[in-house]
Amino acid sequence: MDKAVRVRFAPSPTGALHIGGVRTALYNYLFARQHGGQFIIRIEDTDQTRFVPGAEEYILNALEWAGLKADESPAVGGPYAPYRQSDRKEIYRQYAEQLVASGKAYYAFDTEDEIKAMRARLEAAKAKNLSYNALTRRQMKNSFTLSAEEVKARLASDEPYVIRIDMPLKEEIRFEDTIFGWIKVHSSTLDDKVLLKSDGLPTYHLANVVDDYLMKISHVIRGKEWLPSTPLHVLLYQYLGWEKFMPKFAHLPLLLKPSGKGKLSKRDGIKFGFPVFPLEWIDTEENTENPIKIMGFKEEGYLPEALVNFIALMGWNPGTEQELFSLSDLVHIFSLDRVGKNDPIFDIEKGKWFNQQYIKDKNDADLAQIFLESQPKSAFAHLPLSLEQAQKIAALMKARITFAQDIWNDAPYLFEIPTNYDEKVIKKQWNQEAASFIEEFKEELKSYGGEWKADRVHMILEKLLEVKSLKFGKVMPALRVCITGLGGGPDLSAVMEIIGKEESIRRMETALQKIAA
Ligand code: GLU
Repeated sequence: MDKAVRVRFAPSPTGALHIGGVRTALYNYLFARQHGGQFIIRIEDTDQTRFVPGAEEYILNALEWAGLKADESPAVGGPYAPYRQSDRKEIYRQYAEQLVASGKAYYAFDTEDEIKAMRARLEAAKAKNLSYNALTRRQMKNSFTLSAEEVKARLASDEPYVIRIDMPLKEEIRFEDTIFGWIKVHSSTLDDKVLLKSDGLPTYHLANVVDDYLMKISHVIRGKEWLPSTPLHVLLYQYLGWEKFMPKFAHLPLLLKPSGKGKLSKRDGIKFGFPVFPLEWIDTEENTENPIKIMGFKEEGYLPEALVNFIALMGWNPGTEQELFSLSDLVHIFSLDRVGKNDPIFDIEKGKWFNQQYIKDKNDADLAQIFLESQPKSAFAHLPLSLEQAQKIAALMKARITFAQDIWNDAPYLFEIPTNYDEKVIKKQWNQEAASFIEEFKEELKSYGGEWKADRVHMILEKLLEVKSLKFGKVMPALRVCITGLGGGPDLSAVMEIIGKEESIRRMETALQKIAA
């Protein structure tokens, strides 16, 4: 790297951060960390019409939850503060004026109706290109067509105006994208984009380029949807005399819907019932009267490290079969060279698989904490679980679940006496022999005065089986159904240790009464 690495994630606070945005942030973060550089978060909020209250806070919280700590941001500040474009308003105008002064941009006074009329004229003449450009501006009201005095007079009388870039008529704009290679665009396909709006605020294009320059950004890593805007940005670097400082561009492929057709959207999440946002979001866009709560990955039970691993592999591949990577593994191994051009399909099943792996690997104490926090509000409200019990439950269940909260659904018997007994098991496995074995086992347990531990319970069970010359499989399903109500599950003596001696005995007694009847 010939230049200190400084990369930025530059979201617009127009709503919740989409999972694709988290991936963009992640790739920027990894690139910065790998090169000992800086990861910057800049809020691009110059489009007041699309501003959504709460979105900035949401974005910052979401990145923090994902573990993507910024070196510079609106929250932590930094040497190039402020990092929110609406707080930098004053900065942009001078550059727009500099471009006007050097003849690379111009004032345009056309009203919306005049622009509409221009388009209508072009349409009537069957023109293909309806944009405000090097040809059409000749018929419009701007500082290229009006006299210097008139422009001055209009400016002096506070007439609304915008500043547009002078997009050349015939020029090839070239730049190299790290992922997509050399891109060549003919300027006749581009228009005279507005740089400074009539409200005095810059458009995304001007603010983005000015800030990337002022913040000494070395690499722009962003979604592919910005690739068509890049020729304009390249031209702005040239026009502002900053060509030498132009960052390297890397445009990332987009995430596709599960069908592979079209970009993954917020609606897909609602439609298919999977999260597309990192955190919960109260959405008012669909229906302002009736906000809807959209669950995030966090609330659905995804661990941040699993989500990071999952999205890291959406577009990037390590070139090996390895799939599990921690954030610090990724910092070492990630490279933009291994980001493909093809748009990856978003596959939530893969996301669940990653979560399973990370749940399985969590230590018992941490998983117990997460599991306790996931307790459903209504269910098992009577249950104060001790941390010790929760740890035992975490240890017992972690290899069998996808999300910590699955424990509540999958193993309700850990928290309450079964209300139903699996009928299939009863039909096949419940018989006199099993019932009298359970009766005797229960009595053995009653008279047992030692420490209540799974291995002890197991030993008592084995001994009795031996005395009775019975095979494990003969009575186990029936015993399990007494304790859990189900035909399958984790180690039964461990379950019995967790629920305790008295509860185990109570369950056997209850089952013997209920099932026999
Ligand atoms: N504000 C733009 C967005 O929301 C940023 C694009 C860029 O990174 O240049 O996507």
